[in-house]
Amino acid sequence: MQLIFSEKDRHTFHSGRWNRGYNPDLCIVSKDHNGVSLQAQRSVLNNFPKSQHRPVRIQIEHQRNGQAETADKLLGPKAKGRKDRWTETVENIDFKHSNREAWNVLRRLDPSQNRGNGEPEIKPNAFANRLIETSRAKIDKYISRKLTMDLKVKKTHAVEKSKWADKFTPEESKEFEDLENILSEDLDTLHTFYNQWRLKPNPSKTEVTLFHLNNRRANQEIQVQFGDQLVKNNPYPKYLSVVLDRTLTFKNHLVKLSAKIKTRNSIIAKLSGTSWGADANTLRISALALVYSAAEYSAPVWINSAHTNKLDTQLNSAMRIIGGTLKTTPLKWLPVFSNLASPKIRREQALIREWTKIKNNKNLPVHADVRLNVDRLRLKSRKPPWKTAEMLLLENSGENTKWLEDWMAENPDGQNIVINPTSKQPGFDLPRKIWVTLNRIRTGHGRCNHMMYKWKLHTTPSCDCGNDMQTISHIAIECPFRAFKGTINDIHTANMNVIDWKQNLDMNL
Ligand SMILES: [Zn+2]
Repeated sequence: MQLIFSEKDRHTFHSGRWNRGYNPDLCIVSKDHNGVSLQAQRSVLNNFPKSQHRPVRIQIEHQRNGQAETADKLLGPKAKGRKDRWTETVENIDFKHSNREAWNVLRRLDPSQNRGNGEPEIKPNAFANRLIETSRAKIDKYISRKLTMDLKVKKTHAVEKSKWADKFTPEESKEFEDLENILSEDLDTLHTFYNQWRLKPNPSKTEVTLFHLNNRRANQEIQVQFGDQLVKNNPYPKYLSVVLDRTLTFKNHLVKLSAKIKTRNSIIAKLSGTSWGADANTLRISALALVYSAAEYSAPVWINSAHTNKLDTQLNSAMRIIGGTLKTTPLKWLPVFSNLASPKIRREQALIREWTKIKNNKNLPVHADVRLNVDRLRLKSRKPPWKTAEMLLLENSGENTKWLEDWMAENPDGQNIVINPTSKQPGFDLPRKIWVTLNRIRTGHGRCNHMMYKWKLHTTPSCDCGNDMQTISHIAIECPFRAFKGTINDIHTANMNVIDWKQNLDMNL
């Protein structure tokens, strides 16, 4: 039996009383003697007058009448076209930055996004805002020119930025009260300047944040006056899409980020079940574009955070989807089947790239900033990324060398099947079903009776051939009923014989 259900479908029952949708009507399809379920499609139709139920249409698409080849011939080109289009879309969009194209794709894919009926909703506020915007008074060219000129002059004579920043360190001015005074004074200067030039600052959008390690005063707020308003305290300000916090542990940032990655992972998971059979290559490209681009954005900043494991859990499950491996599979296998280095190694490489760029380019403003700070720490216990970068540069080995070392140190491959973990394993381009089976045989973790018994999903660990332990390797090379005529190493090569054997195998691993 198989449940036909898509999260994207609307609910089959809409309760008027609770104003919520539910799915009480299930569509379950039986399987034939080959274990293949009937090809069925379920669609939920529009509201039915005077009823809270919605009609559901079930279409049985393709009856198996022995002419599977014809069906394959018909469906093949269509599937290929769809796959090519998806690859092209994902490769062309840059998901690192927020652009409209990327968001539209995400919105269309993400099942959690509520799809309304497409009617734009104009709120009175938006309407009023637009009116004010369009009716803005004329700008006096003379004054605006004078302002720009003056700003230029002020900029050239401005005090050094770091001098202001120094005032934020509590070591130098121990008391928070001192801080309040200093900041208020500075803002006063700004305020008079603004007033003089008829500029309107927005104190309600100005925020103040304290960075310190004094846990006893963790919730300390300071009162800073800007014009006639008190500046709001924000313990978690967002700067260039990184959420900062008092002690720079980046906990808040990483928790938010991993939640974001989780929804994107579900998109990749959905792709792995599409009818055109997203192969490992397609899934890998999609994961790089959707998941990794977001997960590694500004990674050099928070690389030393103690909370990166939250993110790594999500990245591991992305890798698990690409390789089709089960949750019990040792983590070290995951990079091998997804052909993506482990999250930590990838971050370190990103840091090395960033650091060499900053170090070698004297024109970058950050170049001077970092030089100033190399010997001095603002928050004493923190490990700054540049120290890590220098240490990594001393080792000076590439991504693949690191990966190989990592693999050697804790090699889960007891049977020495994998020759080079950093290259794509045989079968990477094969249809997903074969690729997944291959990987489950390679790792020895699959849905065999031995494992199913351990997970309490099966009553016995024995095989129907009489052997009392049905492990993956038993199925693959020992079982008289179904074993492959060859060794595990032969299966690893994924040649034609292996593909034929898998097609005829009577179980899904
Ligand atoms: Zn057996």
